Formats: sequence, structure tokens, C-alpha cells
Amino acid sequence: MSAETKFEKEMERLQREGVISRSQFLQIMAAAGAFLALGTDKAYAAKSSVRAKIVIVGGGAAGIGMAARLLRKLHNPDITIIDPSEKHFYQPGFTLIGGGVYGKDDVWRSQEECMPSGVKWVKDKVVMVHPTLNKVDTEKSGSFDYDFMVLVPGVKYDWSRIEGITYETIGEGNAHTIYDWRGAQMTWPAMKEFSEKGGRGVFCDTYTKHKCGGAPKKICLLTWDNARKSGTTDKIDLHYYTGSKQLYDVPHFTPRLEEIYRERNIPVDMNCKLKAIDTHAKKAYFEQTITAADGTKTTHEIGTEYDFMHFLVPQCAPDFVRESGLSWTEGKLAADGWAMIDQQTLIHKTYTNIIGLGDCAGIPTSKTSAAVRKQLPVAVDNLIALMEGRTPEAIYNGYAACPIVTEYGKVLMCEFDYKKEPQITFPLSLLDMSKEQWVAWLLKVYALKPIYFELMLRGLY
Ligand SMILES: Cc1cc2nc3c(=O)[nH]c(=O)nc-3n(C[C@H](O)[C@H](O)[C@H](O)COP(=O)(O)OP(=O)(O)OC[C@H]3O[C@@H](n4cnc5c(N)ncnc54)[C@H](O)[C@@H]3O)c2cc1C
Repeated sequence: MSAETKFEKEMERLQREGVISRSQFLQIMAAAGAFLALGTDKAYAAKSSVRAKIVIVGGGAAGIGMAARLLRKLHNPDITIIDPSEKHFYQPGFTLIGGGVYGKDDVWRSQEECMPSGVKWVKDKVVMVHPTLNKVDTEKSGSFDYDFMVLVPGVKYDWSRIEGITYETIGEGNAHTIYDWRGAQMTWPAMKEFSEKGGRGVFCDTYTKHKCGGAPKKICLLTWDNARKSGTTDKIDLHYYTGSKQLYDVPHFTPRLEEIYRERNIPVDMNCKLKAIDTHAKKAYFEQTITAADGTKTTHEIGTEYDFMHFLVPQCAPDFVRESGLSWTEGKLAADGWAMIDQQTLIHKTYTNIIGLGDCAGIPTSKTSAAVRKQLPVAVDNLIALMEGRTPEAIYNGYAACPIVTEYGKVLMCEFDYKKEPQITFPLSLLDMSKEQWVAWLLKVYALKPIYFELMLRGLY
């Protein structure tokens, strides 16, 4: 069944069940059809019979997507995925759980169900890679040799870099994070109660590279929109602290996003690092760096009380990536251990039998599954070229997309490349996508999840 047909069937089911109306069905199909037409790889007819031992480290969006595509492009491939997770999460849905749109079980499937048939799944964690020996060590299942490795273990949340709160205490003192399934579930009732009662809401991102730069902004805007719906905007005082030097850095979309924050009276403080949360006193501490006209930098502490807080944990590559000598050793991406991957070919800079993509890759794009979607065909083509002894020629242009939910029913759909230039998918390009649009909301809420589970993870998109 083609990608388009599968997707249409899923949308028809939503229409039959009354989740979406007929006119919504037609609009979603028009917008999603364009995404599908562009993304679907029609070249599966030609299968390569080259054979080599492929080990994929990580079975998330990138790992499962790679395996599924390789299975369609290779005759009788030898693929092992190593991943310890029982559940496979559609993480972009965490924002919609936090905003009360999705239920907790709308965003996951069992990892077993997602594993493409024909791959060996080792349910374990990689603890070390020996790239000169072509071998990976796992925690409990011994070592595995490979000819080619796909490095896709995502990110590690580094809780040690925030004082006063831990993974176990998420939600204490009304300090929440949607960057975790349980955390997303706790966020919604807290956000709802806060927006009805009023008070001071503190929101922040983090100073490391992080998954979906838009997600913390979306939670802030949804909180405001809940207050609008409850008629309590005069009772709330929201404040956003960013670790960056501006709220968003893609020029085509930034002006409207900044305007929305201004319209809603949400001040934004730049260059702020969250250092600690005192969950008993409900107080957050940031370190803000100010750069004077002569370039001198000074830092000072900001302590701010809150009634409701949403925060992000600093993120880095999983420890074994750095410990195995696979990380950048210099430049901006070295500090947090991101994998030393060529930004165009997605091949490791030192070990050319390693391909890296997804969140762990040290490439200057936004860490999103939308980016993974466009990296997959490049990574697969280049891996097969390497296996066949050809020069890898496929190039990734840095495409990423971030649907910034600005209110219930509107999304600012930011699509861009390495140069931060807009890369708007047709027919969305017929609309003014520098502004928030309803059709982008329909895509975000109804289309992107089935596209992810039904098509991307099956190598059909
Ligand atoms: C709150 C939130 C909102 C988001 N919103 C969006 C959005 O709107 N749009 C969008 O496109 N993207 C969004 N994303 C980002 C998107 O989910 C990620 O970019 C995408 O999942 C990255 O895929 P990945 O395979 O690199 O990592 P993941 O999908 O995280 O998978 C990593 C896998 O590696 C495994 N692993 C980790 N360590 C090891 C180890 N040592 N050994 C073996 N396996 C290991 C893990 O178990 C996991 O299965 C969001 C993410 C979050 C958290």
C-alpha cells in the first residue's frame, strides 16, 4: 500500500470516528498530500544485494526509520538494533499532552510493534563503542561486531546541571517539564489550574542544544491561551527566560513570534541559564550574562518567584559517545559531546563506517523528528554507497521543521535549512507562513503523528 493510501485510510478512520469533520479531512489531506509527495522515496524498486553487518545503536525515530528504509533498499540485510526501551514515544506529542490536547496513551506504541520485521533487536544499552575494532559493548548482552554502524542514541538529559530538582521530583513545587512523558502528564492539570486561578508563570528553555527549540515556547503560549479561554489574562503574569541571545533565530518566523509575545505582555529575558529551582519556596534562579558595548561580559543572578513553572533540563550526548571518542573535540559542539558527524553526508568525520543522524549528531540543525525525516534518505543512500565501495554523494541541506503552537487552533509552522532560510513545503507555501495558520494546526494535531508511526517508522516516508 502506498504512503498516500495508508495515510488517507488513517484520516478516514478519524473522520468516521468523528475526531475530525469532513472539511477538516479535506484540508488535512491537501496539506499532508504535499508533505507525502515530497518525502516519499519512489526509488525503492532498485534493491542492492550488497551485504554487511549493520549495527544500529538506538531505536528511536532515526534508528527505526533507518532500519525500515534499509530493509526496503537491501536484499536480505543483516541489521541489529540495540535499544533498551519497552515503549517507543512520539515525542512531539508530549507538548500536546502538556496542553491537554492528547491523552497520555496517544503518543506511544510498544517498541516491539515498531521494530521492523527482519531486524534483530537486542534489548540492551550500549556502554562503549570501539571504533577501531568495529565493536560495541552492551551492559548485559556482551559485544557485537559490525562492518557499519548507525549512531542514533538521541540525547541525555543532564539533571546534574540544575540544583534543587531531579528526574524523580519532576512536578514538585509546581515545577514541570514536558520533556518527559510523565512530566507532560503532570503539566496539563497544573497549567489548567494555574490559568484559571492566575499568578506568576515562569518559563524557560536551556543553554545547551536541545530537542525542539519551539516546545518550551509552545507551553508558555498555551498557558496564556488557556487563561484567555478562562477570561483570566488580567490575573496572570508570564515571563520567559531564554538561554539564547534571541527568542528564535530563524529570521522569516522570528518577527511574528516576538510580536505574539509582545501582544500577550510576556517579557523575554535573553542569555539566562537556569541554575536552580527551590521547589519549597517556589523560586527559580537564573544566571544572566550581559555583554557591554565594548564586548565585556558580566553575569548576575536573577531570583524569581513563581506559582507555575515550566523548565528544560540541559542536554548532551549520552556518555558513551564521548567516552568512545566519537564526539567533536573542538568547536561549539564539543562541550556537550555531540557526535562528530559531517553536516552534509552524515558520515562520521574520523570513522567512515559510522553514520550518525538524529538528536545525537553534532550538526548545526534543529533537533527534530522533521529533520530526521529528511536525514533518513541521505543517511541510507550514503551508507549503501559506502557498503558498495562508491563515493557517498547524497547531501542533507539542514532541513528542520518546528510547528510552534501559538494558541489552540493556530500553529506557526517554521520550516528552514542550515542557512536559516525558509524551506516551506508546497502547498503551505501558498499561504503566508511567516504567520500562524489553522491548517498548520490540523497538520500538527492530526497528520504528523500518523505520518510518523505509519509511514516514517515503516520506511515509507
Ligand atoms: C517535548 C518535545 C517536543 C518535541 N516536539 C517536536 C516537534 O514538534 N517536531 C519535531 O519534528 N520534533 C519534535 N521533538 C523532537 C523529536 O522527538 C526528536 O528530534 C526525535 O525523536 C529524534 O530522534 P532520535 O532517533 O535521534 O532520538 P530518539 O527518538 O530520542 O531515540 C533515541 C533512542 O536511543 C535509545 N538509546 C539511548 N541511549 C542508548 C544506549 N546507550 N544504547 C542503546 N540505545 C540507546 C533510546 O532508548 C531511544 O529509543 C520533540 C521532542 C520533545 C522531547
